[in-house]
Amino acid sequence: MTAPNLMEKLVSLCKRRGFVFQSSEVYGGLGSVYDYGPLGVELKRNVKDRWWRAMVQARDDIEGLDSAILMHPRVWEASGHVSGFTDPMVDCRTCKARFRADKLGDAPCPRKPSKHPGEHKECDLTEPRQFNLMFKTFMGPVEEQAAVVYLRPETAQGIYVNYQNVLNSSRQKIPFGIAQIGKAFRNEITPGNFIFRTREFEQMEMQFFVRPGTDGEWFERWRGLRMGWYQEIGLEPSRLRWHEHGPDELAHYARAAFDIEYEFPFGWHEIEGIHNRGDFDLGRHQQHSGKKLEYFDQGANERYLPYIVETSAGADRVTLTVLVNAYREEDVEGETRVVLGFHPAVAPIKAAVFPLVNKDGMPEVSLELYNDLRRSLPVFFDDSGAIGRRYRRMDEAGTPWCFTIDGQTLVDRTVTVRDRDLMTQERIGIDAVKAYLTDRLG
Ligand code: ATP
Repeated sequence: MTAPNLMEKLVSLCKRRGFVFQSSEVYGGLGSVYDYGPLGVELKRNVKDRWWRAMVQARDDIEGLDSAILMHPRVWEASGHVSGFTDPMVDCRTCKARFRADKLGDAPCPRKPSKHPGEHKECDLTEPRQFNLMFKTFMGPVEEQAAVVYLRPETAQGIYVNYQNVLNSSRQKIPFGIAQIGKAFRNEITPGNFIFRTREFEQMEMQFFVRPGTDGEWFERWRGLRMGWYQEIGLEPSRLRWHEHGPDELAHYARAAFDIEYEFPFGWHEIEGIHNRGDFDLGRHQQHSGKKLEYFDQGANERYLPYIVETSAGADRVTLTVLVNAYREEDVEGETRVVLGFHPAVAPIKAAVFPLVNKDGMPEVSLELYNDLRRSLPVFFDDSGAIGRRYRRMDEAGTPWCFTIDGQTLVDRTVTVRDRDLMTQERIGIDAVKAYLTDRLG
């Protein structure tokens, strides 16, 4: 399967099965903004829940936060976003399209898609100019400069400005972290590749506050933990790699930065950044706000501005990664079987329950099992169409197990379990179904 072909198939499956829809489609769609349908919202929620569980609930040293999207405009002056959150942009005078000057190699020339902008003889690119990616809006009824506020382009600043609130209210001591999941907005010049780069997206960010001098060690620890997490949610290890930021990519304040990259059909790209940010962020907020943000270590009787190790991932980008990683086509007896082989932890539906036929008491027994399971798990009931078609529908939704109630169930209270990946069937007692699922879901 060629790469564009695979993405086209995935995008069409996402629409057909209710994972992802183009925003405002009835009005022709809004550029690079997407909505999550019934299966997509569950999938993305599972990605976020797994992250929250690993980062907040399973640890004693990280606290959760949910800060507002709108923040004081001076936050973005202090952070450097007002002056420096820009991408270099070029226009083509011939075709009137706009491109990111530093990513021309990723974009097709609208005149000749096999070439990149600037490579076709009719291309006439302007000199690059800097374009600020923050969305601006106005607070209050008057649209004037003094009322400008920004839609946050990252969630991290909400963590920095709440660092002391969390510290004082939670009785944490350094080293400790603050994590949050929330929307971010960037007026990207060239969004694309479906939900990979969009203008509205969700981030899952964690800032870990450490004593200066211990940052290198924590940075390595977080690198290991984050790479491990992607494997825990089922990403193929051979499609994951590290990219270390060289001196030309590294922000001036950053002490080190590594990206976790995944091999998408359109190439290797970042899914998460892990950064050793030193004391840049708290230093800037201390300077701009005039408030002391130092930490007093009572044991050592010393005062310092903590260093920060950040882990920053995109929930939508990870959701796309999970979809790409799961998509496969198989030839089964001359027919193509499309499967989303999700890790059970992220699968939107964990199991389906089917009566083999709609008679002889099978629907009643099936509904009984379904109603019992749905109290604790997302499960699906389907009694329409041939059983083979029902299995195929669940394969496309990525449901790991299907339980079928048949004639024998009524005799000996056993059901068949059909495994999505192996397509094998075994019989287990109907009373053992719940334990079968909970054992496998962990
Ligand atoms: P890129 O180089 O791809 O623009 P970045 O280095 O600007 O990304 P960060 O600012 O480090 O990205 O953001 C952290 C994470 O947020 C990224 O790894 C990605 O998963 C996600 N992210 C950033 N921009 C977008 C976007 N426009 N759409 C979807 N996810 C995004």
